[in-house]
Amino acid sequence: MGSTDIPQAMKAATVLEFQQPVQILTRPVPSPSADQILVKVTCSSLCSSDIAAWLGHVGARPPYCPGHEPVGVVGMVGSAVRGFKPGDRVGFMPASSTCMDCTECLSGQHRFCEGKTCVGFHAPWGGFSQYCLADPLSTVKIPDGLKDEWAAPLLCAGVTAYGAVKKAAVAVPGGMFLNVVGCGGVGHLVIQYAKAMGYRVRAFDISDEKLVLAQHSGADEVHRSDQISVQDKQQTKSLRARATIVASGSSAAYEMALPLTASHGHTIAIGVSPQRVPVNLLEMVTRDLSLVATNQGSRQELAECLEIAATAGLKPEVEIRQLEELEEGFRELMEGNVSGRLVYRLWK
Ligand SMILES: [Zn+2]
Ligand SMILES: [Zn+2]
Repeated sequence: MGSTDIPQAMKAATVLEFQQPVQILTRPVPSPSADQILVKVTCSSLCSSDIAAWLGHVGARPPYCPGHEPVGVVGMVGSAVRGFKPGDRVGFMPASSTCMDCTECLSGQHRFCEGKTCVGFHAPWGGFSQYCLADPLSTVKIPDGLKDEWAAPLLCAGVTAYGAVKKAAVAVPGGMFLNVVGCGGVGHLVIQYAKAMGYRVRAFDISDEKLVLAQHSGADEVHRSDQISVQDKQQTKSLRARATIVASGSSAAYEMALPLTASHGHTIAIGVSPQRVPVNLLEMVTRDLSLVATNQGSRQELAECLEIAATAGLKPEVEIRQLEELEEGFRELMEGNVSGRLVYRLWK
């Protein structure tokens, strides 16, 4: 099925070399193969994984177009695609061209397929190009009532936040306190999903600005992380929850997360840094603590997280910018100067 109003050329942000300025280039609009969808991207947000990729830490392959939180409108579908048609409003996750034959693909966890390619890390198109190819297996429709600008951050940060709260739910029943360490782009969404799912939330961050965002996101209590001493058992014990979600990559965040987790509880890792993070195994063993990691979610979880956002009225904190301002955003996010999420419009 085709469309006549799709241009030949588009603007695409491009990383030509790691750690070099991101260029806005004119590139050909890609054509979908039989099993792909061509999406006209309306907006896409910047994730810390885009920075990690640009630094060369997560296996991106220059030249590539960054961006993996895209929302847009289907422009064209390949001949074998079912379930989508031109005009559908969609968002999609990175995993593409998966092998369809490994355990991950068979179990619906195809984002862990080792044969996949990733939109935003490996291709000349991505979230920050005006058109992008999407794999239908990683694509969902955006519910009515959820604006493109609010949906974009949910495509990675939101589904990761939602997945973390689901994992926390194994250890902590609704109505009880859940701790969130790090209240930035992902952390403030963890708080919003936790509140929508019936938890009380205690939020921790070293930045007053991010604690204000935590309060706006519904946190019941906010605490300055740098005023908590992990040596002070009385203090940490009084702040314990059965689950602590860490949405910061700093070692200090992980150092405080275990003491803040009640015995038999779960510490859930989202935030990563290239440095190795020391873990107090003695504390884990003596208090029966679990440390589990999470990233993004299944296609069904993505659909659930968008539905919750639409029905519960979640409002990601976003700042809207134009594609040409992307380079500046990379710098600001790297320096930790972004509250919430930077969302880029692909068309003026
Ligand atoms: Zn991401
Ligand atoms: Zn596979």
